[in-house]
Amino acid sequence: MNSSTDVLILGAGVNGLSIAYELCKRGKKVVVAEKAEIGAGASGSCDDMILLQSKKPGILLEMALGSLELFRSLREELPCDIELDTKGGMILIEDEEQLSLMEGFVAGQKSCGLEVEIVGRSRVKALQPLVSESVIASTYSARDSQVNPLLLMKAFYLGASERGLRLLRGAAPVSIEPRAGGWATRLASGEEIESGAVVNAAGAWASQVCSLLGFELPIIPRKGQVMVTEQIPPIGATNVWSAKYIASKLKPVAARREAAGAAQTPEERYGLGFAFTSTHSGNYLVGSTRENAGFDKGTDPEALALIGRQVRRFFPVLANVNFIRSFAGFRPSTTDGMPVIGEVAGRPGFFVAAGHEGDGIALAPITGKLVADLVEGRTPGYDLEKLSPGRFLGAKGA
Ligand SMILES: Cc1cc2nc3c(=O)[nH]c(=O)nc-3n(C[C@H](O)[C@H](O)[C@H](O)COP(=O)(O)OP(=O)(O)OC[C@H]3O[C@@H](n4cnc5c(N)ncnc54)[C@H](O)[C@@H]3O)c2cc1C
Repeated sequence: MNSSTDVLILGAGVNGLSIAYELCKRGKKVVVAEKAEIGAGASGSCDDMILLQSKKPGILLEMALGSLELFRSLREELPCDIELDTKGGMILIEDEEQLSLMEGFVAGQKSCGLEVEIVGRSRVKALQPLVSESVIASTYSARDSQVNPLLLMKAFYLGASERGLRLLRGAAPVSIEPRAGGWATRLASGEEIESGAVVNAAGAWASQVCSLLGFELPIIPRKGQVMVTEQIPPIGATNVWSAKYIASKLKPVAARREAAGAAQTPEERYGLGFAFTSTHSGNYLVGSTRENAGFDKGTDPEALALIGRQVRRFFPVLANVNFIRSFAGFRPSTTDGMPVIGEVAGRPGFFVAAGHEGDGIALAPITGKLVADLVEGRTPGYDLEKLSPGRFLGAKGA
């Protein structure tokens, strides 16, 4: 069977579905082809943060701020609740080296318009009465927020479906070829879909999709293991991270050590950083690792033990908390830590929206808007040069 549509989106993670929702709202005919099931990738196995404080000053932070505004309007317009909440966030600092790293980082973020500050021990204690004495200071931003990624995907999917979205599950492309005025994509089922545009939103698998067109992008899976606590009363006023988490995100210690030829501790080998966020149901998500482990989705006892030890170190009160579940997901990671958003030069009508690493939930609404603008040939509201696929493919494109 053959069919035609305005836009074919590959991948039903949070970004593919956000783009689908936005395009459907603009009256486009949209098909999403998903290799497995909604949320089968990172968006179904991740934390829930719209964390502004972790974003590098510049385009990423600007997009995150824009995305948070969009979340507020999406909460009103989407057909189901997305558990959007703004509790604020703190990045816990344990020594002078971390303090100086975070002071520099916070100064850059302030210059980009984020309300964030470094707070001393007494304010830390007021906001987090149960935190360990080893925490000497913290950052604090009242704007850090959170959303339930599973509900967000459901809401985008329902909203787009009401406007005519066709979702194909278990549908991976086997070929993508140029046709007059667009693309012809053949799925494993034999169906061929003609479309004016194709959007590759396949997360950590995006380069595999590009290889069907004969080129690759440096997007690889960076595994994160997370544990979930039983339901417990709230611990402190905000969600928290460790400064090590930020350092691990911005410049993985493992990579620095490897470059220096030094031996790694188990924490460094796993790229361990502390992330501790409470869900609406009272379960806490406790993470996480940041590993180069290919597409191995298993969790392992050593990593989980390290995560458990870490939460007890920061919050001794949790010495006996029960963990009810663990999972791992694949952050779609690029070599420069920035997503790939744009049309591929030399392949008109073929767009990439992938590589969001640990920011893809926070950036999903703005990604939907920007990609919809690009597909419609409009000038997006941000300078996307730094995110373009061309930065990896060179001036000639693919
Ligand atoms: C442990 C962990 C914690 C995280 N915490 C946060 C957080 O707090 N805040 C935040 O903003 N981000 C966080 N992230 C990052 C976030 O989860 C990702 O950036 C985001 O989910 C990526 O969404 P996506 O739609 O681009 O990709 P994905 O969700 O990976 O979706 C890609 C989809 O494409 C499908 N696919 C693959 N190949 C094909 C193909 N050939 N054809 C069709 N479909 C295909 C996959 O099955 C998948 O469903 C975290 C990630 C992890 C792993």
